Amino acid sequence: MTDPHENCNHNPETSLQNLLDNNKQWAERIAKLEPGFFPRLAAQHNPQYLWIGCSDSRVPANEICGLLPGEIFVHRNIANIVLQSDLNCVSVIQFAVEVLKVKHIIVTGHYGCVGVHAAFEEQRVGLADHWIAHVRAVFSRHEDLIMAEPVRAERGRMLCELNVIEQVVNVCRLPVMQDAWNRGQDIAVHGWIYGLQDGRLRDLGLCVRERRRTDELRRETVTAWMAMRTRESSPAA
Ligand code: ZN
Repeated sequence: MTDPHENCNHNPETSLQNLLDNNKQWAERIAKLEPGFFPRLAAQHNPQYLWIGCSDSRVPANEICGLLPGEIFVHRNIANIVLQSDLNCVSVIQFAVEVLKVKHIIVTGHYGCVGVHAAFEEQRVGLADHWIAHVRAVFSRHEDLIMAEPVRAERGRMLCELNVIEQVVNVCRLPVMQDAWNRGQDIAVHGWIYGLQDGRLRDLGLCVRERRRTDELRRETVTAWMAMRTRESSPAA
């Protein structure tokens, strides 16, 4: 019988051996630095954070936050979108809130997001157009605000930030979050954005800790975000 991996293992173009070698070195390094790390982690799962981010390989949650395995629960999809109808995302949030009892949910977008820019430029990317349509809806909601910005490149950055704000609002309106806050659970929802150019995370100034009316929450967060942008673009006194 032919080995199904025969061709893979001998072709440097397709071999994954380097990944397996890297993993062996990584596991040995961690075990040496912190003896008992993996058995301890295998026995319990107690992360304090849920990260909802983009699938983009340049934005890995653990690495950019300096966290080890076990410290952050992660859900990623194209353009960090949160939908009530997405059973995958909503199940992750429910599990994080009700079972893991995380203290913080962090929705993290990033500048230069291909999904966001495809929505902004109305570019066709294939099947993912259906998914990206949700970012297009964010653009339509805030079109006047975005198009009032004279610098075109800045408009794309604004949409990346507004998309985070809208996804924070979407998290807060989920029944699982409303129930958690109704029973007094200590959990906050935050909105961050990551710069591919400098590797830095930036807090968009959102922190929701209690049940809020969706329209009020959106109005207040967008107003606070606009004020923050005005402050940051003003020359220092
Ligand atoms: Zn992205």
